[in-house]
Amino acid sequence: MQAIQIQQTGGPEVMALRELPTPSPVAGEALIRLEASGVNFIDVYLREGRYPAQMPYILGQEGAGTVVALGEGTAHSGLKVGDRVAWCGVPGTYAQMAVAPASRLIHVPDDITSQQAAAAMLQGMTAHYLAHSAYSIQPGDEVLIHAGAGGVGLLLIQMAKSLGARVFTTVSNEEKAELAREAGADEVVLYTREDFAAAVKKRASGLGMAAVYDSVGKTTFEKSLEVLRPRGILVLYGGSSGAVPPFDLIQLSRRGSLYVTRPTLNDYTATREELVARAESVLGDVASGALKLRIAHVYQLADAASAHRDLEARRTTGKALLIP
Ligand code: NDP
Repeated sequence: MQAIQIQQTGGPEVMALRELPTPSPVAGEALIRLEASGVNFIDVYLREGRYPAQMPYILGQEGAGTVVALGEGTAHSGLKVGDRVAWCGVPGTYAQMAVAPASRLIHVPDDITSQQAAAAMLQGMTAHYLAHSAYSIQPGDEVLIHAGAGGVGLLLIQMAKSLGARVFTTVSNEEKAELAREAGADEVVLYTREDFAAAVKKRASGLGMAAVYDSVGKTTFEKSLEVLRPRGILVLYGGSSGAVPPFDLIQLSRRGSLYVTRPTLNDYTATREELVARAESVLGDVASGALKLRIAHVYQLADAASAHRDLEARRTTGKALLIP
């Protein structure tokens, strides 16, 4: 089978298309023929070495496809050869074939394509736990979402609106601003033209943001704290611009008894029950049309390095997929 494997960390040039043996499912696993693989920022962190990975390493951790074989001990899972499934959080999806634990697989509803399922799993469930659990958005809350035209951003705006929030968002250019507005954002700030903290404070109607959802990190963290209301929460869930440097916690008390959390999707889908509940909610909303996916970039597997270059250069909006 073909796969994008790295043998060392580095820039997109370390990503090579290789011919590798098809993996065999061990006990508890399924072998899946991929129809689409999702591209996510975490793939960049792993490629760069910001997160550790054991070399050689097949990139990618989101996909959808058809079960072609099952390992021992999967009889109770309800899975059969031929089932369409989707999953995330398991490495090895930039490939034609991948293995994954049966306990992490979700049946794809008939009215959803495999591309839609691959596009919704990681970013959709992330938006879901951010809006419902990391901070539970209440009707009337004002919240700020950075990178509003990104993969997570466009989905999180829609979920925050459906929970009754007044949504502020930041984006880098006018095209992205339009997409964020279409997704339902009430106040869109072009941070390349004005200071986002000043703009948000000026347009806020109350004491400030109940929550800031910050995936940008290094370049936004301090100013994200500035726009929170007393006892507001900064949900720092990524670092697209780099990691946040060490921080003196006393600032949280000085700025109004603030909270900061640094969550990961794994911890919010740790049990089978929670994984299934979030996945079914997201895929159900995609099927009904309540949640709109924007699959804006589709690359061939061999072009995976271009997908990374585009993601890192802020040239993407919504979801990027690889087709094996
Ligand atoms: P996006 O589609 O949001 O792409 C990143 C966007 O971030 C860019 O398009 C850009 O938007 C903005 N950005 C701002 N500064 C930079 C910079 N210096 N370099 C690159 N991009 C920048 O990516 P994803 O939706 O895949 O992921 C968004 C973030 O969420 C990532 O940080 C990721 O790690 C995190 N994440 C965290 C999870 C968790 O559970 N903790 C799970 C899933 C994702 P603009 O041009 O508008 O500035």
